[in-house]
Parts: sequence; structure tokens; C-alpha cells
Amino acid sequence: MTGTDVDVAIVGGGPAGCSAGVFTARYGFETVIFDRGRSSLRRCAHLENYPGFPAGIDVETFYELLHDHAARAGCGIVPTLVEAVERGDGGFVLETQDGRRVTAERVVAATRYGGEYLSPLDDAMFEDDGNERFDRSSATEDGRTSINGLYVASPSVASDRQAIIAAGRGARTAHALIADARRERDYPDALAEQYDWLRREGELTGEWRERERWREWFDEHAPDDWSGERRAARREAAIDRRLAEFLPAAERERRAVDGHDRLLDHIDDERILARAREIERKSSGVGT
Ligand SMILES: Cc1cc2nc3c(=O)[nH]c(=O)nc-3n(C[C@H](O)[C@H](O)[C@H](O)COP(=O)(O)OP(=O)(O)OC[C@H]3O[C@@H](n4cnc5c(N)ncnc54)[C@H](O)[C@@H]3O)c2cc1C
Repeated sequence: MTGTDVDVAIVGGGPAGCSAGVFTARYGFETVIFDRGRSSLRRCAHLENYPGFPAGIDVETFYELLHDHAARAGCGIVPTLVEAVERGDGGFVLETQDGRRVTAERVVAATRYGGEYLSPLDDAMFEDDGNERFDRSSATEDGRTSINGLYVASPSVASDRQAIIAAGRGARTAHALIADARRERDYPDALAEQYDWLRREGELTGEWRERERWREWFDEHAPDDWSGERRAARREAAIDRRLAEFLPAAERERRAVDGHDRLLDHIDDERILARAREIERKSSGVGT
């Protein structure tokens, strides 16, 4: 819309940045994640308190899963350091250590350490203690800052503590960014806030199975001054998006298998083979 290279540039591909990227890319924003340099995550010995991994997970595998997820959602991932973020036409310009200049309509800072790359934008975000330290409380709880289009998921007082909190903060920041972008495009509050939910097709019942009922729903919320083709285009796009949330059973099964296969991609082949041999032995009754 603004002629920038990407809609969203995220600085940092740890839990906060990858989480933010999953949401912005799934929404449809062209998103790039820059990732290099000092990492808090890589200092953990073993991650044992991130829900979903009952025996914990080694940091290397977790990091690969984060990146695979962000890439699968549609993010580009560029392994380079961002040295500076400045204002530019239609948003921001990011300068990287390897000499790129990438323009973005919106920027999400997601680096537990540092933040110096934001200093060209606003000195007020830095504590004046002689060390130019980023003020971790300068953004709101959903990452908004005093600069339009700039969001800070990390560093923040909250995300510093645990990886799951950093991921949550990244998600929250992305939600705020998406809602802000939609409000700027004149969406009223009721339509600006998006939930990235998938539902079972069985929940689509009664009158809601009819497209006409969704058109009525849209008309109840859309401003009166949206008219003609613009109104129709937005209405049909909104309905397509809502209806795509409802998954039939066969599609849920397909996604379940796909999800398991994707997890296997990240597990050491020797572990998979050892477990397969064990399963085979048990099922054939050998050794019982
Ligand atoms: C020793 C130690 C042990 C810990 N143990 C645990 C634990 O067991 N459990 C737990 O939940 N939490 C633990 N934590 C906290 C956890 O690591 C953080 O809460 C979490 O990693 C923060 O995520 P983040 O995405 O904000 O930052 P990070 O994990 O630091 O990720 C930021 C990413 O951005 C990249 N980056 C940095 N600067 C730039 C730049 N200028 N340009 C481009 N990329 C950049 C980095 O390479 C990194 O990949 C530990 C922290 C430490 C220090």
C-alpha cells in the first residue's frame, strides 16, 4: 500500500520475534525477520518451562522449530544484524550489517538484548545513565510506542523473564499492530480486532451457513460511508476470511498428519528409528 519493500520488519528471531511474525504473516502482511547477534534464548541450558514440551526441549531444536513455524507462516528470515532503524518514505528504513537497506511500513523490535538500533528514531526511549540503555518500559503492554508504526515486543520488563512470556508478548504486539493497521484503513473497532482462530465446521450452524447472513453481519458493523464497490469488496473479503476459519473433519485430519510429520522433521533420525524399532518389537510380541 505504501510502496515499502515489506509491510512488517521484525528485528530479532527469538521467541518474541518469531511469535509476532507468525501472526503478522498469517494475517497476510509481507513480513521479514532479521536475526543475528546476542541471544538470550541461546544462553538457556535447556528449556523446561515452555508448555507443550513435557520433558523440556533443547534450545537448538526449539530455535529451529520457531524459525520453521515463522517461515511456514510466510515470513522471510534473513540472518543478519540490524544496525539502525530510521524514518523513511511510507514508514521506516532498516540498515543491516551486510549493507542492505530495507524499507518497511511497520517495525517490531524483538531483541531481549540491545535496542541501540532504535536510537536514530527517538532518544527518549533510552535511559540517560551514560550507557544509552534502552528503557524497557517505554512501550505499552501490547508493544505500542509513541512512534506510529513502531512496536517493541522485546526488550520489555515482562518478556525478559521467560521465553513463554516473550512469545506471548510477541503475539500481543502483532495483534495490536494488525488492529492499528486496520483502523488506519478506516475499519471500526468491531471489525479492526482480529482473532486468528480456527473452528470446527460443526460450529457453523443454522443461518450462519448462509453467506447472506454474514453479509447482514458485516452491514451491521461497517461504517455507512463505505459504499459501492469498495464496500462490496471489503465485505466479501471479510466473509471469505471468516468462512475459511471453519475446518471440515477431513481437513482437520490432514492438518493433524501434516503437523506430526513436521515435528518429526525436527527430531533426530536415530531417535525416530530407535522408537520405530521398539514399537515394531512390541507389536510383533518379540521379547514379551
Ligand atoms: C542464562 C539464561 C537462562 C535462561 N533460562 C530460561 C529458561 O530456562 N526458561 C525460560 O523460559 N527462559 C529462560 N531465560 C529467558 C529467555 O531466554 C528470554 O525470556 C527469552 O529468550 C526472550 O526472548 P526474546 O525473543 O525477547 O529475545 P532473545 O531470545 O534474545 O531473541 C532475540 C533474537 O534477536 C537476535 N538479535 C539481537 N539483536 C539483533 C539485531 N540488532 N538485529 C537482528 N537480530 C538481532 C538474536 O540473535 C536473537 O536470536 C534465560 C535467560 C538467560 C540469560
